[in-house]
Amino acid sequence: MKIHEYQGKEILRQYGVPTPRGVACLGVDEAVAAARSLGGAVWVVKAQIHAGGRGKGGGVKVAHSIDEVRAAAVEILGMHLVTHQTGPAGQVVRRLLIEEGAKIAREFYVGMVIDRDAQRVALIVSPDGGTDIEEVARSRPQSIHTWRTDPVAGLTADVAASAARQIGIPETAIDEAVVVLQGLYRAFVEKDAMLAEINPLVLTDDGRVLALDAKFNFDSNALYRHPEIVALRDLDEEDPAEIEASKFDLSYISLDGDIACLVNGAGLAMATMDIIKLYGGNPANFLDVGGGASREKVTEAFKLMLKNPGLKAVLVNIFGGIMKCDVIAEGIVAAVREVHLSVPLVVRLEGTNVDLGRKILAESGLPIISGGDMADAAQKVVAAARNT
Ligand code: GDP
Ligand code: MN
Repeated sequence: MKIHEYQGKEILRQYGVPTPRGVACLGVDEAVAAARSLGGAVWVVKAQIHAGGRGKGGGVKVAHSIDEVRAAAVEILGMHLVTHQTGPAGQVVRRLLIEEGAKIAREFYVGMVIDRDAQRVALIVSPDGGTDIEEVARSRPQSIHTWRTDPVAGLTADVAASAARQIGIPETAIDEAVVVLQGLYRAFVEKDAMLAEINPLVLTDDGRVLALDAKFNFDSNALYRHPEIVALRDLDEEDPAEIEASKFDLSYISLDGDIACLVNGAGLAMATMDIIKLYGGNPANFLDVGGGASREKVTEAFKLMLKNPGLKAVLVNIFGGIMKCDVIAEGIVAAVREVHLSVPLVVRLEGTNVDLGRKILAESGLPIISGGDMADAAQKVVAAARNT
């Protein structure tokens, strides 16, 4: 689960990480009032969306007067902000963060992720902050450094200081940088984050260290123990199909292809997407209906898949283990009748009561294409999508 920058900065402050003062707003007048209440002579007007790269996309503006704050707020609010992380359609800006401006001497990158191979939290640092780190990783990988933390000792002051020195933070600011890195580490661990990033961490003209940006991604499997994080969820930033799916306890991820897949089990769902790709097709979604999918769940899953306007074909790939194939077949027939399916449907069933399941599909009178093994089903659905 992702949150906005202003929410991430609130968490950073709780862990002692210095950030500029700022106010989150929903409207232009509110933004102007926020700038007045912050005072000073320079403000930064920042689009709040769940994606990075806002600066390059025109979503971050420095203002030198209240009039400029107003103009920037008018320009940014409601814009379709396109960045390398939003995809070509962009994301509509509904919230702003108005901050006091900072005088930047240097920009650094600091971030944390879980290194699954090492089974440790990895601290990633670079002297090339501000720009997108993906680009730095491509063009100057030697300027990105990784430190793996000991899970028992945590991020020690020694390691934090060494990482800070490595990216060129001056001696006079090392103690402050250690506070930042250790605070970020504690936030990462205590809040069950998967990613915590400050880009840029800046050194100001007067030698102070300040987090100018904040990005967090939390492990959804741990949200049950963080009601305070769940409260930060902004549904406007999430895919409507995925929100709908979560209501029915379906694991659904939208993708940009045109072949919808309905599968039981995450492993089989991944394999199904792979085999569609192998035969030249493109999956429209990942969908795992789970081990005990009921007829209602299958119907809801069909409704979700059909909301995709670019849909060309559907592949149902079910292994009847706990769930019997005849029950699934009845569910499919009922769902197809209810949703008036208008694109070709390929069904591949295997497992308990498979013969009975196939019989139910064949006798339904519906134009269902029967798939044999996975390869056969995948080839059939790719061909069907081509002809739609
Ligand atoms: P991102 O592009 O989505 O990662 O948004 P950031 O919050 O990182 O802002 C992008 C860039 O705007 C930063 O790298 C800075 O160069 C600039 N910026 C952000 N805040 C300030 C500020 O207070 N003063 C100045 N001068 N520049 C800022
Ligand atoms: Mn940034």
